[in-house]
Amino acid sequence: MQNYKIGLVPGPVSVPEFIRKAWLEDYGSADIEDEFFNLYAANQSLTQKLLHTKNKIVITSGEAMSILWGALKSTLKPNDKLLAVASGLFGEGFAWMGEKLGFNSKLSAFDYDDIPDPEKVIDEIKSFKPKVITAVHCETPSGTINPHLKIIGRAAHEVGALFVVDFVSSAGGVELNVDDYEIDIGLLGSQKVLSLTSSLSISSISDRAWDVIKNTDYNGYDAYNYWYEVPEKKYTPYTHDWPAMKALNLSLENILNNGLENNLKRHSEAAKLCRSLGREIGLKLFPKDEKFSSPTVTAFYIPENWTWENFNNALRIRGLAVGGNYGKLAGKVFRIGHMGSQANNELVKNGMEIIKEVLNK
Ligand SMILES: *Cc1c(COP(=O)(O)O)cnc(C)c1O
Repeated sequence: MQNYKIGLVPGPVSVPEFIRKAWLEDYGSADIEDEFFNLYAANQSLTQKLLHTKNKIVITSGEAMSILWGALKSTLKPNDKLLAVASGLFGEGFAWMGEKLGFNSKLSAFDYDDIPDPEKVIDEIKSFKPKVITAVHCETPSGTINPHLKIIGRAAHEVGALFVVDFVSSAGGVELNVDDYEIDIGLLGSQKVLSLTSSLSISSISDRAWDVIKNTDYNGYDAYNYWYEVPEKKYTPYTHDWPAMKALNLSLENILNNGLENNLKRHSEAAKLCRSLGREIGLKLFPKDEKFSSPTVTAFYIPENWTWENFNNALRIRGLAVGGNYGKLAGKVFRIGHMGSQANNELVKNGMEIIKEVLNK
């Protein structure tokens, strides 16, 4: 298998050895063993600590896209109004998914190198009166972080809307408080800050959201309906991924035992180092203001006189893997993922050293 000495792809991130050990065990049946349901419950309460919430935690198998779809399908019916706040690909993706699902889907759009302007968003919330508002905490393809979730959450509840937030690539690495930001449904994947394989998806769901979920009564593979009382009823709608659940436990214990604050600090320091080394070697930051840059991922313009293919090949030959891009950022912007196991100053320094070497060639 092709491995890179310096892995700085913004997810899936490199899985550390202490987490990989979870897959060495021969587990029993996740459908029937009490031990599995106890582990599920333990992960629910650890996740509540990670996210600062009293909301119920649902842990499903499958990677994060499954709950992005599931959250919409579980809360909206055809022609219901969805407002997707977007300054990037994932934000716009919610509007696109809503449209494909037959909802009355509207985009509150901002430039990819910018962050959403809360005043404009509030005006759109007031005039459109959506049932659900979606937002993205870290727009991974743009390397930006939205610091205005709390203002949007408040505005959502003033019109009786649910506030759904994708914090797949930020939670655990960036300051986030689900209860304070009034997030009804928060969406998290396992292959980013948590440094697992892309095996699990985690949702935090408020009582207000559970009422809507029960009313919507969506029943499908990705429906939240069946997940209200998993450890209590010792029932999941399909055979769960026990080794991944164990790996999640190891990851959450590790973050919380080392102190969540320290984890946030480790991320912001790696990001700061990445930006300052990038500046030194002449890279141009993609976000139009440095303060919009995420602590988990840094996006730079692809240097002048390089195509993405040539640049990427030159880096890979030297053992460095970074992230390319999609949609209108494809071929223009590349990304360094310093999240989870990769939020490491030494790793970032070594990666930037290789970029410098390639640019000086
Ligand atoms: C990675 C990511 C997802 C989920 O995509 P996967 O297919 O699970 O990798 C969703 N939203 C954001 C912002 C992400 O970075």
